[in-house]
Amino acid sequence: MITFESLGLDKPLLDAISDLGFETPSEVQEKSIPLLLQEDTDLVALAQTGTGKTAAFGFPMIQKIHSESRTTQGLILSPTRELCLQITNELKLYSKYIKGLNTVAIYGGASITEQARQIKRGAQIVVATPGRMKDMIGRGMVDISKIDYCVLDEADEMLNMGFYEDIKDILSNTPQEKFTWLFSATMPKEVASIAKKFMHKPKEITVGTKNAGATTVQHEYYVVGGRDRYPALKRLADANPGIFSVVFCRTKRDTQRVAEKLIEDGYNAGALHGDLSQNQRDLVMNAFRKKQVQMLVATDVAARGIDVDDITHVINYQLPDEIETYTHRSGRTGRAGKSGISMVIVTRSELRKIKAIENKIKQDFISKKIPTGIEICEIQLYHLASRIKETQINPEIDHYLPAINDVLDGIDRDELIKKIVSVEFTRFYNYYSKTRDLNTQESGRERDKKGASKGGVPSEGSVRYFINIGERDGYDWMSLKDFLRDTLNLEKEDIFNVDTKDSFSFFNTDAQLSQFVLQTFTDFKVKGRFINVEVSTNPGGGKKSKKRDRKRGHRKGGDNRSFRGGRKGNSGKRGGKKRPGFF
Ligand code: ADP
Ligand code: MG
Repeated sequence: MITFESLGLDKPLLDAISDLGFETPSEVQEKSIPLLLQEDTDLVALAQTGTGKTAAFGFPMIQKIHSESRTTQGLILSPTRELCLQITNELKLYSKYIKGLNTVAIYGGASITEQARQIKRGAQIVVATPGRMKDMIGRGMVDISKIDYCVLDEADEMLNMGFYEDIKDILSNTPQEKFTWLFSATMPKEVASIAKKFMHKPKEITVGTKNAGATTVQHEYYVVGGRDRYPALKRLADANPGIFSVVFCRTKRDTQRVAEKLIEDGYNAGALHGDLSQNQRDLVMNAFRKKQVQMLVATDVAARGIDVDDITHVINYQLPDEIETYTHRSGRTGRAGKSGISMVIVTRSELRKIKAIENKIKQDFISKKIPTGIEICEIQLYHLASRIKETQINPEIDHYLPAINDVLDGIDRDELIKKIVSVEFTRFYNYYSKTRDLNTQESGRERDKKGASKGGVPSEGSVRYFINIGERDGYDWMSLKDFLRDTLNLEKEDIFNVDTKDSFSFFNTDAQLSQFVLQTFTDFKVKGRFINVEVSTNPGGGKKSKKRDRKRGHRKGGDNRSFRGGRKGNSGKRGGKKRPGFF
């Protein structure tokens, strides 16, 4: 096993790395750290978001810099203020055991004189956004004429954002004999031409598309009619209680509009886009970090700075124009070793874009169905039951118990449970029982057999199961699938459509396996706990129970789109209060 020690890093860095809890180097770190430590060379490194690029250039830069000199020796350019701050914070953590090493962040929207003051105190490493950097060079507030190392981080994004001229200007103020390290998720021709123009025989590193960041993300698409994007988004959120997501829109206007509608409908949502003031953006981001905002609706540019590791879902409300942008979006989830799901809401005419993205990311999409109203009700019902189970009893209730007992006198346990659950369930049921199917038939692009079964396009003879373990028990869709495969001794393809929720999950097998599956999980215990598997009425796999057929009748009559507040007053936390501070 490769260790950080074996890459040639010194003790102060190794101690900091161990404090950070990094155990083994990521692929891009493994490839670039020894190279940059041993050789003075230019470097082009291609690696997806979330693969640990900051440390890949940060560790060698910190080790090579002379902390006893106060001269600015390293410059890191990054596209946004948020990334700039994120890199600065990381570098400070990396260098915490190196006395006298100062890293200073330079970015727009904050006091320039304060930043100049920090530089003046001595900053061996400067992390900057191009605009503010140019400004400060122009005013003689920063001297980069003696730097040894220059990093262009997220180079593709800086060029996307139109920083080419600024970068050129900035580089013209740096010495010829320095080393330039360029990091990028993608290699469009603009990046190639920068490399050609400003770098000398750069070494190249490409982290295979099969890096940890890429394979932990499952890509799914949902085909709907153009006008059903919003109702589809709501259903995806409702079918995933506990969702913590970024919802991408193409324009600032759509971003604002979708966020406002979600808030109006009682979701914990917020908007992040360039028309908001820095202060407003900070507020939203803080609320998101604290998970007070569960659905952050964002433009691509604004979302570049999102440094949150445990995002469960990325939702593409609309597909981006550039395929590369999709890579950036989906890279917001599945970070730091966790798995994630990137969902795309598409219309039939956009399906060819899915194919193009598949080619680019070298990963297949799974075709999925927008859950029906009844499926959502079922998911919410299980979720509610498990929430009741997990709820800490408030001791204050003891005082009121005699009175409450009087009120509830004569109701037996079964009836009481039904009533408690109905308090919330009825709200969803009333809303969803009359809604229609939002899925558009995917003619013209039938998925191959494998894709279809994987993706839960309900194949005739498949059965969907409910299982009482989920994310809270440490499972994600991949590890649950592994667990089921091992327990049932089946092939990977035999188990499909695995959907983990907080405290329970769903999966499918072919119908002929159902007896075997149910038998295996009869009186099945792991570590003293019963693992319970039942056939679900949730028809992801085409099981038709009488109950469902009956309910299906209710659904005719169209989506009641004027309904507002499907979740309003759901619970105090979820109440449909506006958050005026964000807008
Ligand atoms: P990138 O710049 O490639 O998008 P980052 O450098 O921001 O990725 O790293 C993503 C996350 O992974 C950060 O939270 C970082 O602290 C963490 N990380 C980086 N390297 C490692 C490692 N070797 N082991 C564990 N976590 C790591
Ligand atoms: Mg980065």
